[in-house]
Parts: sequence; C-alpha cells; structure tokens
Amino acid sequence: MGDCNVMLELLFVIFIVVCFVIYREFSQKKYKQNMSELLAQVEQKNALLKRLSITDKLTGLNNRIKIDEVFSVILIDIDHFKKVNDTYGHPVGDEVLKDFASILKKSARITDVVGRWGGEEFMIIASETDSVGATKFATTIKKSINEHEFPKVGKITASFGLTQISIGDSLEEVVNRADLALYNAKETGRNRVVCGL
Ligand code: GH3
Ligand code: MG
Ligand code: MG
Repeated sequence: MGDCNVMLELLFVIFIVVCFVIYREFSQKKYKQNMSELLAQVEQKNALLKRLSITDKLTGLNNRIKIDEVFSVILIDIDHFKKVNDTYGHPVGDEVLKDFASILKKSARITDVVGRWGGEEFMIIASETDSVGATKFATTIKKSINEHEFPKVGKITASFGLTQISIGDSLEEVVNRADLALYNAKETGRNRVVCGL
C-alpha cells in the first residue's frame, strides 16, 4: 500500500513537471512569434519613414523631408477591428488584414508606397499627389472597402487621415498631422476621410 502511494506521488510529480515543460515551451513559442511579428512591423515602419526622409549631411540624422515633389501621406485604420477578432477569432482577423492589404495594393499606383503602419493600421505614401488628389484617392479606396465582402466577416469599414507634405515639414510633424486627421475621422463617426492641413 505504502509503495503504491509513493508510486502515485511520483507519477503526480512527473505529471506536474511534464505539464510545466509543455506550458513553458508553448509560452516561449508564442512570445517568440509575437516578438518577430513586432520586429517585422518596426522594420516596415522604418522602411516607410526612410522613404519620406533625407539624411542631414551635418549630423547624419534623418530629419527634414525630401521636398522635390508634392506628395501626401494617408493613414488608414480598420474600424472596430477588435470586434472582428473577438467575434470570428484571430486567424480570421489575419485573413481580413491580408485581404484589406491587397485592396490597398490594387488601388495604389506603381509609384505609391503601401505599408503596414502597425496592427490594423496602414500607410500609403502617394507620390505627385496634393491633398485634393489624396482625398479623392482615399475616397476611392474607402468605396472599394465598403463594396468588398470579406470572407466569413462580410462588410467592414475603415477611417482615413491624410495630409500633404509641406516645405519645412519634419517627419514627426507629417505623421502627427495624418494621425490627428485619422483621430478626427474616428471621432466624427468612422468610415470617413479627413484631410489635415
Ligand atoms: P477603432 O475603430 O477605434 O480603430 O477600434 P479597433 O477595435 O479597430 O481598435 P483597437 O485599437 O481597440 O483594436 C485593434 C485590434 O487589432 C486589437 C488587436 O488585437 C488587433 N490586431 C492587431 N494586430 C493584429 C494582427 O496582426 N492580427 C489580428 N488578427 N489582429 C490584430
Ligand atoms: Mg488602430
Ligand atoms: Mg482600428
């Protein structure tokens, strides 16, 4: 009887250890996956910012924006995307992001740059486009999104904040202006295009 108890205790301890090892492997894998996703996003963000900037010869810093042509920056944020994940699950959310990105790519011209700015946020750098042109461009994309049926999810909407680059702008100023316009688009009801000047 005593032997049996010792055996049971031993089995229990082994069971606990195995559970712990499995749990640790799983959480480490998830952590690594999250980290590599995050790093990929940071890299994309840096690549986008690099497109917008020139190197200051004196300090070697990227600060003032290249201003040999007119262009605009459009920030796009999917509306209520958390709800998509909550209702249909993260993998379906991922498919929506892929589908969404391909609409953006299809809508853009070859000279535009389309990138992922963060989770469910995207950025388009529209070359040779002033704020009037960028507003038309964003409205066309909004229409394409509104008309698209996303598999399993159906209709979704997105909000747009855009700004034209002006002489003397710093990168920070441009991104802040587009971000503020996007914030206004959200605040005034979502599924809309707001131009920040
Ligand atoms: P709002 O209209 O104000 O933008 O609401 P929202 O729900 O879109 O915004 P919120 O910032 O609350 O949520 C963004 C969600 O996007 C939460 C996050 O889990 C999800 N998300 C971010 N990156 C990914 C991703 O790579 N895949 C999936 N499936 N979801 C993601
Ligand atoms: Mg967002
Ligand atoms: Mg959102």
